[in-house]
Amino acid sequence: MFFKKWKYDNLNKEQASLHSTKVVYDKGSYKAKQIRIWAKSWLEYGILSKSLQGYLQKIKSIIDDEDVIEQSLLFIHEKGGKATPKEYQTFVKEELFSHLGIEESKKFLLKLLVYEEENMKQKDPILLSNEKLHIFITYDECLFYTNDDRPIAWAPIGEPLLRKKEQGKSIMVSDFLLKTNGKLKLNKNEILLYPEIPIEARKFLKSRKNEEGWWTAEHLLDQVINYTIPIFKAKYPNTIGVFAFDNSTNHGAMVKDALNVNNMNVNPGGKQAIMKSTFFGLNKSNHPTFPNQPKGIRQILIERVIWYNGLVGHCQLCKLNIDDITRTDCCMCKILSLEEDFKSQKLQFQEEIEKRGYICIFYPI
Ligand SMILES: [Zn+2]
Repeated sequence: MFFKKWKYDNLNKEQASLHSTKVVYDKGSYKAKQIRIWAKSWLEYGILSKSLQGYLQKIKSIIDDEDVIEQSLLFIHEKGGKATPKEYQTFVKEELFSHLGIEESKKFLLKLLVYEEENMKQKDPILLSNEKLHIFITYDECLFYTNDDRPIAWAPIGEPLLRKKEQGKSIMVSDFLLKTNGKLKLNKNEILLYPEIPIEARKFLKSRKNEEGWWTAEHLLDQVINYTIPIFKAKYPNTIGVFAFDNSTNHGAMVKDALNVNNMNVNPGGKQAIMKSTFFGLNKSNHPTFPNQPKGIRQILIERVIWYNGLVGHCQLCKLNIDDITRTDCCMCKILSLEEDFKSQKLQFQEEIEKRGYICIFYPI
């Protein structure tokens, strides 16, 4: 249908894909983009990507539903990317859920909340002698502005409400949360018991004019090493912490010379990181073509014999950080990032967490 509309009915690719996605799936531009990718793959390689072949078609959760993604993105976009969590929550409850129907919304809630029992009581698992209690702890960060809109304000009757146009100063809050205790911090007894350990894991950062005040990966690393882990260790000795993070690009600092496609150009030279040496397969060539300079993604793919004509450097979906496990060969960047040596690179704080025998996980994108 897409090809017919595109080639014979004089629609452009965008219009044709939007038409097909509306007729077949009753979906919008997110699915349409996928159709264009499938079509491209069909034209270029004569194969359909796995996600179109059916077995991964079933939607695992409502969070993966295109409608949910599309409407959420639309909502955030309408708010100029500045929607507060409260606003989004209201949108989910009042608009998204009513659109999706109540059964779907239950699934969404189940995904967000985990009850240990009906009455919410903590239930310790039965452990074997060689097993340790695992404690789930999640990272959360939030940026607040002085003039974040408040839902209620006082104003004389009949007069328009005056709101400040500027967002005002910002404060970044970065914290670790537990299902049972809330914020990760020492209680009164623990404070006396461990005077050398910081009281709470939470960190603030106020914005400054010259941008020095931005929360960076170094801040998070410092928080994890010097606050979060010591506090967790003191509070829950002899347990295993399961630290969960979202996939924010903000904390994407890897070990300085790690293999990371995000620090690489497509072509050799220029401004890009020089990374540690890596070996792959039997070919242990040491940059023969571009000695002592970063050779770029294309050259590496050529050397690994996984490059082919027509590959783009970074595709739109990857640029937008829209990830999909079924999309494995959309662009040079993706292909290289999935190579075993690149894939196994860890974030700095992840290394620190795992070094101590704890577990570090990331929420699905
Ligand atoms: Zn890509």
